[in-house]
Amino acid sequence: MTPSKSTKLISVIIPMKNEADNVRELYRQLARVFASLPQYRYEFIFVDDGSTDKSVRVVQALERRDPKVRLVRLARNFGKEIANTAGLHKAKGRAAIMLDADLQHPPAVIPDLLQKWQEGYDIVIGRRSSNKHHANFLKRLSSRWFYRLINRISSIEIMPNATDFRLLDAVVINEFRRFTEHNRMTRGLIDWLGFSRAYVDFVPAKRLHGQATYNYAALIQLALSTVVSLSFFPLRLAGYLGVFIIITSGSLGVFVIIERFILNDPLSLHISGTAILAIILLFMIGIVLACLGLIALYIADIYGEVVNRPLYVEKRRLD
Ligand code: UDP
Ligand code: MG
Repeated sequence: MTPSKSTKLISVIIPMKNEADNVRELYRQLARVFASLPQYRYEFIFVDDGSTDKSVRVVQALERRDPKVRLVRLARNFGKEIANTAGLHKAKGRAAIMLDADLQHPPAVIPDLLQKWQEGYDIVIGRRSSNKHHANFLKRLSSRWFYRLINRISSIEIMPNATDFRLLDAVVINEFRRFTEHNRMTRGLIDWLGFSRAYVDFVPAKRLHGQATYNYAALIQLALSTVVSLSFFPLRLAGYLGVFIIITSGSLGVFVIIERFILNDPLSLHISGTAILAIILLFMIGIVLACLGLIALYIADIYGEVVNRPLYVEKRRLD
């Protein structure tokens, strides 16, 4: 373990899209928090994700006043996952903290994150202890089912209520930089990495100004890409279904052949030609689906090779 992590640089990464009304208040709160933590140096990395409002100008004004403020500008809107990734690529700190620009992730929790880090954890995850301000009933319900599903079909454990509000040690960030996939959920990839993790509960605040940009369509999109990137189960599903159909229609077919054509209908079922045709068709559909599942196995293999994840992740490389 590292002896002491004091006087280390901490990077705070803030993805923002049209957050002009929130940025100044966020900066004020962050500056206040770090003023009470003199044992750390800090940099605030605002990642502008194609804002169309005054966000950039507000940050530029802060940048002129405070050299610890850095602005990273993406050329267009790439989505929060990529914005966070860009921030992690630029972070120079001994640890980085990602937090939303809308003040839903209260900066006052930062000392707790740092405390856990100080205790030796590599990843400290902010866990929502209440969903009240975060989402309506439908969003909460779908989120719960989503986590249930993803934990069932994926080998990586993903904690419900775990948010993007988290601290990463530089070791973790270094490993994170090796990911090359385009379609990504930052959180899921971090969970994939492993490392020692601690949780800090926080009550999410209400969004200060503006509207959450993640609507249902965007959330479904994110959920789908998470499932696809962390699990091959949906791919195999067609194959399983095909095998199931082959077995049932196959045994039905054998039964019909024996009953009708070999034993001459001792049960007097009078199975019609149409019924036999249906069984044959079903059997063929089963074969097609099973073949799809077979192809899926190869696609899964190709996917695994193409995203080119690190083969393994070492626990300690710095120091
Ligand atoms: N955000 C972003 N790019 C986007 C959408 C959102 O960088 O395309 C930022 C946004 O400015 C905020 C954070 O991601 O800092 C969370 O977004 P939001 O509050 O809209 O989502 P939610 O609170 O529902 O997670
Ligand atoms: Mg929000």
